[in-house]
Amino acid sequence: MNMDRVVLPASELPRQWYNLAADLPTPMQPPLGPDGNPVTPEMLAPIFPMSLIEQEVSQERWIDIPEEVLSLLAKWRPAPMHRAYSLEKFLGTPAKIYYKNESVSPAGSHKPNTAVAQAWYNKQAGITHITTETGAGQWGSALAFACAQVGIKCKVFMVRISFDQKPYRKLMMQTWGAECLASPSNETQAGRDILAQYPDTPGSLGIAISEAVEAAVADSSGKTKYALGSVLNHVMLHQTIIGLEAKKQLEIFGEKKPDIVIGCAGGGSNFAGLAFPFTADKINGADIEIIPVEPSSCPTLTKGPFAYDLGDFSGMTPLLPMYTLGHNFVPPPIHAGGLRYHGMSPLVSQAVVEGLFAPRSIHQLECYEAALTFARTEGLIVAPETSHAVACAIQEALKAKEEGKEKVILFNLSGHGLVDLKGYDAYMSGQLHDYEFPQEELDKNLKAIEGFPKAPANKSGKW
Ligand SMILES: *Cc1c(COP(=O)(O)O)cnc(C)c1O
Repeated sequence: MNMDRVVLPASELPRQWYNLAADLPTPMQPPLGPDGNPVTPEMLAPIFPMSLIEQEVSQERWIDIPEEVLSLLAKWRPAPMHRAYSLEKFLGTPAKIYYKNESVSPAGSHKPNTAVAQAWYNKQAGITHITTETGAGQWGSALAFACAQVGIKCKVFMVRISFDQKPYRKLMMQTWGAECLASPSNETQAGRDILAQYPDTPGSLGIAISEAVEAAVADSSGKTKYALGSVLNHVMLHQTIIGLEAKKQLEIFGEKKPDIVIGCAGGGSNFAGLAFPFTADKINGADIEIIPVEPSSCPTLTKGPFAYDLGDFSGMTPLLPMYTLGHNFVPPPIHAGGLRYHGMSPLVSQAVVEGLFAPRSIHQLECYEAALTFARTEGLIVAPETSHAVACAIQEALKAKEEGKEKVILFNLSGHGLVDLKGYDAYMSGQLHDYEFPQEELDKNLKAIEGFPKAPANKSGKW
């Protein structure tokens, strides 16, 4: 019998998160306020509790996970790691393919890893309400679950196109006791402004972030804060539990190290979660190829410039140094899942500038084809986002076959697709098409950031 899975006991749950900022050879550039000066922790205090702001700016390599957060995580963690024997056999590859299965959380993705931590820190700070945005609905449902666990009220602004197309995520949020609104909504000035100008807009993550931040700041009691499910440093930090577990599990599988580490990248968090602990090894000399994969229809890392840009549509957030397609990017209404944010985590972006990662974009038809192959071999039906990581793992396994090399490939199965079968339906009935992001649209979007301060692409030159 094959050893298909490694499941660690609860006692092996990592006790600390890993902070890549401590090891980046070239320091990150700071977020900037509207006046072009660095944002101070005090300026972020109306939006986030101080404990999370401290993590956001921390240069400590290791940060302790509070005992109560560990108990919340232990409801489904450590998450299993699988070896994809059936897929390997189907592909006829000498490569060994492993995947970390983040679909086992209550919300079905990696997002609860940071949701429970953020909800807990907010609760400690005396916060009673949290606002947030959600694209495809995974983050909203993860935060709704986490808020129910710690006893905080949760309000979610959901991008309108998903609100209409994905009723089940909305129902999950409501089941966990959260309120879910279609964005743009009439509840905020940002929402009303956009509706007045574009009544039929499908919405975007950038617009929904504007609404959620405004709704948090508008509560003058100070008891409402905002939570973000990706992009920010503290979110990447909380997700590193994935890679820290994965290292122990690979060792039990008998592997010294992976040759290739893969994650799909929207705002960067599940990719970072798996990849950052291995990035530390790469910085210390290990030979590992690390690949963030994005949709060709939203090619932030592969086509966008590294620049200071806003995190949202209307300027509620600081300027972040990151790869970006421009903050007024409104994605085409296609079923590409939740990888459609205009920006990218500044930590991931700086590591890309440094040359530590090799970003790749893949078209959605290839991704869905890979997802069907995976479902018919390994059995799991992955989220449309995750299908990008699966497609890349298959590309690498076939390359290893051509080269006749026994490579060790590790990818992150960031979530299941059982609530996203509409996308599978669209693919299987031939309604999906590939969509190349037009250069003219990028040029047009980038006009909007021309006046912002420049972010120099500083790097050590080692990679
Ligand atoms: C949200 C989500 C993503 C994309 O977000 P990241 O922050 O880039 O990880 C990927 N996969 C799944 C299943 C998601 O829910």
